[in-house]
Amino acid sequence: MWNATRPTIATNALFEDIDPERLLCRLQQFGPILAGSIDLDSTAIEQNERALSEKNMAVVRGFFELGVPLGIISNASGEKRHRRVYDIAHTISESVGCEVIAVTSHELGGWQCKKPRQLLFDTVAQRMGVANHLMFHIGDQVLKDAWGANRAGYAASVHVQPCAPKSDPRGVRWLQRPLENRLLRSWDAPFGWE
Ligand SMILES: [Mg+2]
Repeated sequence: MWNATRPTIATNALFEDIDPERLLCRLQQFGPILAGSIDLDSTAIEQNERALSEKNMAVVRGFFELGVPLGIISNASGEKRHRRVYDIAHTISESVGCEVIAVTSHELGGWQCKKPRQLLFDTVAQRMGVANHLMFHIGDQVLKDAWGANRAGYAASVHVQPCAPKSDPRGVRWLQRPLENRLLRSWDAPFGWE
């Protein structure tokens, strides 16, 4: 059962360390890729921050410059956090010069619809006009990001290290991360990158 949660690629790197061209080259080996989605909190931004770092923004911009747009999938289930995600999407849109699509749990039923629920992954792909099997997803949580992308039939799921593990909610820090780390070790992570 756990193999359904295994990311296609697991790196020891942070999101800011990604070289979009190299990653896309690698991902194309798993199938054609037209677009991607990213998790925000602890992947591309620290919890509760409102702006991407310059390094993370450069990575996002790199994908757009290569003709591979990125959308955002967030488990923000409250109104305030939902608005924050859209504000961030707007800021990224201004930086990359085109609309950045976002989807939040808040829009799709609140706390009952969080990653790894497939609906979030289906919705972002649909809004971007790309079939699921031509999408990839980048995130820091195996049991939410990788599992969700896998079950939605994305071409690939990419696991990166959390950029702000100390700001994780307690349940994630004390239960989920230790379990994920055990799984990653059992799969001999890092893998699939080079
Ligand atoms: Mg996250």
